Amino acid sequence: MSDNDFLFMRRAIEISLENVKKGRGPFGAVITRKGKILAESCNLVTELNDPTAHAEINVIRVAAQRLKTFDLSGCVIYSSCEPCPMCLGAIYWARIDKVFFANTTADAKSIGFADSRIYEEISRPLQERHIEFRQLLREEALGAFKAWEESENRVEY
Ligand SMILES: [Zn+2]
Repeated sequence: MSDNDFLFMRRAIEISLENVKKGRGPFGAVITRKGKILAESCNLVTELNDPTAHAEINVIRVAAQRLKTFDLSGCVIYSSCEPCPMCLGAIYWARIDKVFFANTTADAKSIGFADSRIYEEISRPLQERHIEFRQLLREEALGAFKAWEESENRVEY
């Protein structure tokens, strides 16, 4: 842990507090690259009526737009709270190198954000999940996968 790590996390925490003062969710995130802040964002779920507008998702979008790439290798994310499963997935898709977090999933649960409920769902078989999952038309859908494999202008990610 370097001095900068503390500095960047304090910035993420500061953003989370500013967000609360604006009547939004208590979450902030910062992405850095080469030791400098590349992007900052906050939770905008209620502001945008977008259930996916978590601080980490938003900051990944800003960083990727700024770098003009979907590959954030070499970047580090500082989140004021341990990422939920959606954001964890986004962090992996973005190929971010390292994650720092301050509040834990348990801390979030104690104020009513049940990320842990979703983590539990992931390990359950499909038929035991709270939201119904049904599979159908696989053979038809595979057509797009075959087309992708055969496509010469695909951009791999
Ligand atoms: Zn999240």
